[in-house]
Amino acid sequence: MKMYYEKDVDLNILKDKTVAVIGYGSQGMAQSRNMHESGLNVVVGLREDGASWKKAKNDGLNVMTVEDAAKAADVIHILIPDEIQGEVYKKSIRDNLEEGNTLSFSHGYNIHFGYINAPENVNITMIAPKGPGAMVRKTYEEGFGVPGLVAVERDYTGNALQIALAMGQGSGLTRAGVLETTFKEETETDLFGEQAVLCGGATELIAAGFQTLVDAGYQPEIAYFETCHELKLIVDLIYAKGFAGMWNDVSNTAEYGGLATRKRIITDETRAEMKKILEEIQTGEFTREWATETNAGSPMLKRLRTIESELQIEKVGAKLRKLCGLQK
Ligand code: NDP
Ligand code: MG
Ligand code: MG
Repeated sequence: MKMYYEKDVDLNILKDKTVAVIGYGSQGMAQSRNMHESGLNVVVGLREDGASWKKAKNDGLNVMTVEDAAKAADVIHILIPDEIQGEVYKKSIRDNLEEGNTLSFSHGYNIHFGYINAPENVNITMIAPKGPGAMVRKTYEEGFGVPGLVAVERDYTGNALQIALAMGQGSGLTRAGVLETTFKEETETDLFGEQAVLCGGATELIAAGFQTLVDAGYQPEIAYFETCHELKLIVDLIYAKGFAGMWNDVSNTAEYGGLATRKRIITDETRAEMKKILEEIQTGEFTREWATETNAGSPMLKRLRTIESELQIEKVGAKLRKLCGLQK
């Protein structure tokens, strides 16, 4: 394992260089503002008719079209949604790349699965915060940062790793630590994590627990507190002190009950399915499905969003979060 901190990185490697951040959403806004305030020469590449254009301007950043930003920059950091990166790259970035430029990402998706084929004479790098954009920005403003990952897919100039790390320094990531990985490892583990555990696994676990209680006649509000609201408190303990710290903080009854029953929740069947999900990611089957879905205008995603918004837990949760002042 290789971890980089501030002392390992020289921001000066980007001193006379221009970094174009393409996109000003969750990551684009956070990373461009952080790098700008760290003294890097940042331009933001956007479409003129989009909502972000004005936002980035109002935040005091140098905004231009994607084409102009790519042309002006030595480092092109692509932070628009993964499913449109290939198209925007072909249309606005590819022809504006010059020898020795660096094509940079915060997720390896398009490079690893071949949706972007960069010319041989540019670097391909990744600097990826391990946290949502809002957190990347907030922790930076507080004088710290979120941890990050760094990877080099192609080192044309011989200093690609240092360039990627300097960007991470600018975003505040080396204050917490930046771990070295590869495009393959980052991409496959990221997709697996969000599907099996973080986004897919967690919501389905919560929803199933909630529904079990409601179906048994308990008040939905009580079920929400027990299966959703309290999960954050438990995860916070695990985040800060590991499983052991969490087990130590809950009652002995919770500890025994949790340890004795959890294998009946995540069963061998679930584990086998996790393995299958990982295989579908590794073979590119998932990515092909998502590309087909995107090309068709995301009909399935729209359907799934509707079903999700109609869940009882969502309605109860919205009401309770308001009543308790947790959400405006
Ligand atoms: P967002 O969905 O927040 O990106 C939205 C931005 O992209 C907006 O500024 C939007 O501008 C711009 N955009 C959309 N379409 C175009 C287009 N055709 N041309 C130009 N600009 C366009 O992306 P994220 O920040 O979520 O993700 C960016 C990258 O970071 C991805 O690779 C993702 O995997 C990675 N990442 C994301 C994390 C996260 O927390 N979200 C965490 C770690 C990595 P407009 O206003 O004009 O629509
Ligand atoms: Mg992801
Ligand atoms: Mg309890």
